[in-house]
Amino acid sequence: MGLLLVVAGCPGDSSPKADGALPEPLPELLEQAKPARDKARLVRIDVYGAGAADAAGTRVVLLFEGAPLFHQKQLPAQGILPARVAIELEDVEWGDSVPVSQAVNTGGLQRVRLATPNPRVVLDLRPGAPGRVFYLTDPYRIVVDVSAGSRRRKNRRPLVVLDPGHGGREPGAANDRHGLIESEVALDLAELTASRLRAIMPRTRVMLTRSTDVGLSLEERCALANAMEADAFVSIHLNASSEPVRKGGVATFVLDTTNNRQALRLAARENGTRVAEVTGIQSLLAKYHRRSQAEGSLTLAGKIQRHTLKRGRSVLPKLANRGVRRAMFYVLVGARMPSVLVEASFLTYEPEARALTRANYRRALADGIASGIASYLLAR
Ligand SMILES: [Zn+2]
Repeated sequence: MGLLLVVAGCPGDSSPKADGALPEPLPELLEQAKPARDKARLVRIDVYGAGAADAAGTRVVLLFEGAPLFHQKQLPAQGILPARVAIELEDVEWGDSVPVSQAVNTGGLQRVRLATPNPRVVLDLRPGAPGRVFYLTDPYRIVVDVSAGSRRRKNRRPLVVLDPGHGGREPGAANDRHGLIESEVALDLAELTASRLRAIMPRTRVMLTRSTDVGLSLEERCALANAMEADAFVSIHLNASSEPVRKGGVATFVLDTTNNRQALRLAARENGTRVAEVTGIQSLLAKYHRRSQAEGSLTLAGKIQRHTLKRGRSVLPKLANRGVRRAMFYVLVGARMPSVLVEASFLTYEPEARALTRANYRRALADGIASGIASYLLAR
């Protein structure tokens, strides 16, 4: 399936053009969007970020069984109707548990509702709040990101969101021999990073997307960072390979298009999707990515990579440098702040796996990640 539809901005809203991030609609791609004609079913509508007080944005995720054919329309305010994003669905049924109307009233979004005669999902927006629409696969999701606009205040304390990868029913990679599970190690690293960051940058607020072994959707993770207007989003993972690993190492990723086969395989694993899906979606998604944000991500990635490697080498002197790389990680899609994904070590490389069973190596990696983030925040 080769498409991603990216459209943005309500008619009459001038701000989205400012950073050159919001492309024109791509009608020619709609043709490619046509999925197999099995009837799709709208299973759920999730609204993320609305829990944050005074949210800077919300994310609405329509979850489907099967792949729907859809069109999206951006409708201006008209009479008593506010500006809207309408997702028009063809040949789609929906489950009884999908609420007909959900009031949100924060983050630029007033309400999400189902409408007929054509089955469609309508988002009623606040004035001037643009909504951007894209989709992800496996399972099929239509995502609408609504922005309430920045309310960044002077002297606001910096906010960092740390995202321990996986959790709940998705443990990620594992090393059975050493009893290492990626979701557990990532959570531990995130907690260690948070406490280190609080110690070296007392003014900085640090939030974790999860603090227990619960599952979170990839969309939910960066939605929180967007809603809170975070200054940095760092997703923490451990690398693994089904093939023998000769040197392991640390790598830090930013979102980008890539045709590098290894990066695609890694992205597919972290996304829980197939390599073909990643290739199909990546090039169009790149247009959804803002240039200024991409530059900030590269800077943040460079600092995290350098510091993590340095601290890691204090325990494992031969720890390999896999460098800053680009890959199509769903968890980073739509993030409005510099955002990176760290693969802090290899669970399937014996020396690193053994080191990861010890507190001093975990602490060294976490100190490195924290120093990298601090160095980025100080240099802004
Ligand atoms: Zn992972």
